[in-house]
Amino acid sequence: MKNITLLGATGSIGKSTLSVVDQHPGQFNIFALSANTNWQAMLNLCQQYQPVYAVMTDEISAEKLKTALDNDTQVLSGEQALCDIASHQQTDYVMAAIVGAAGMSSALAAAEAGKRIMLANKESLVLAGDIFMDAVKNSGAQLIPVDSEHSAIFQCLQGGRSGLSKIQLTASGGPFLHTPLNELQSITPDEACAHPNWSMGRKISVDSATMMNKGLEVIEAFYLFNLVPEQIDVVMHPQSIVHSSVYYEDGSTLSQLGNPDMRSVISYAMAYPERISSGVEPLDLANNSPLEFYVPDLEKFACLRLAFEALKQGGNAMGTINAANEVAVDAFLNQAIGFLDIPHVIEQTLEQTNNTVLGDLDAVIANDQTARNIATKIVTKYA
Ligand code: NAD
Ligand code: MG
Repeated sequence: MKNITLLGATGSIGKSTLSVVDQHPGQFNIFALSANTNWQAMLNLCQQYQPVYAVMTDEISAEKLKTALDNDTQVLSGEQALCDIASHQQTDYVMAAIVGAAGMSSALAAAEAGKRIMLANKESLVLAGDIFMDAVKNSGAQLIPVDSEHSAIFQCLQGGRSGLSKIQLTASGGPFLHTPLNELQSITPDEACAHPNWSMGRKISVDSATMMNKGLEVIEAFYLFNLVPEQIDVVMHPQSIVHSSVYYEDGSTLSQLGNPDMRSVISYAMAYPERISSGVEPLDLANNSPLEFYVPDLEKFACLRLAFEALKQGGNAMGTINAANEVAVDAFLNQAIGFLDIPHVIEQTLEQTNNTVLGDLDAVIANDQTARNIATKIVTKYA
């Protein structure tokens, strides 16, 4: 029986993880759960799963949960409590599924404690890729991607990486793949969040619509698979059936395919190196044809271009674009700025930040804050 600490239990990945756990009750046990403010949803989860710990990052929500709960679950609050449950001696596996930079320190705590980290929070690697990968190496942690593209590549590389020439991430293009650039500014948050293939939280849905999600994934792949930027390619694939590919020197390409449902990815991370059922329907290729592939339009999807530029700049540039993106997406979701202002805010934040090397976690956090302050000022110009 493996004890799971599920960070971000009330989110989209959190729910899919619990769905896989439900299908294998003898194999996995929910040891600890976390959420930000939604204490009512957490109350239901605590009643169902009886975890030893429940962490509400928000203190007031933790108090409300404590008052409402009538079982033995210990309710904690704050960022340190997230790190404590992630590194707890009784935790075997950590699902890191908090959204945004807020998920970094707990994911890192799991890495430092040598756990199996099932990493959905790609922002951890974008912000602190070197520090994170060093922690994994030094502690002997097992890092398993919970992102469909990276899981695909991880699966393709199970036979080793001899002769690997490049990897290719697929990108659906989100809801606006075929929308002309001049129609994008007036897009509403609900239109941006209506992803054609994947059901996800609102932040990553907007990131998919701008293609910043793919940009963050390029950086995620750079660290996970120890590549140079020139070895990472992106191809548009609106059906989201081919989840990504690895190209080899001999002309061979290996791809991983499946229906777009994160339960396949999550169950693989939980059972690795075995495979278990996930509840996902088998793929019916004949009913999914034709499968289409296109070269991405970097003028229309400027966020993808900016992410490649930040990766090539290195140092703090990746953390800077991540912070600026979080500020800009939040402003867009609150209808303070338009859809096409998102890349403008990111680009201007990058221009207004000095390129430096981030040696430790304090420097990463300070850079994140500086970039947020700059981006917030830029947002007010567009608002
Ligand atoms: P979501 O918005 O549905 O859920 C986010 C979770 O994080 C919730 O449980 C919420 O309570 C918690 N949270 C939010 N802000 C927090 C804060 N400040 N402190 C602590 N907890 C906080 O998001 P999601 O779609 O499940 O995505 C989670 C992560 O997984 C993201 O990093 C995303 O990029 C990644 N991811 C998601 C998918 C997907 O299909 N949804 C696919 C690949 C990767
Ligand atoms: Mg992905």
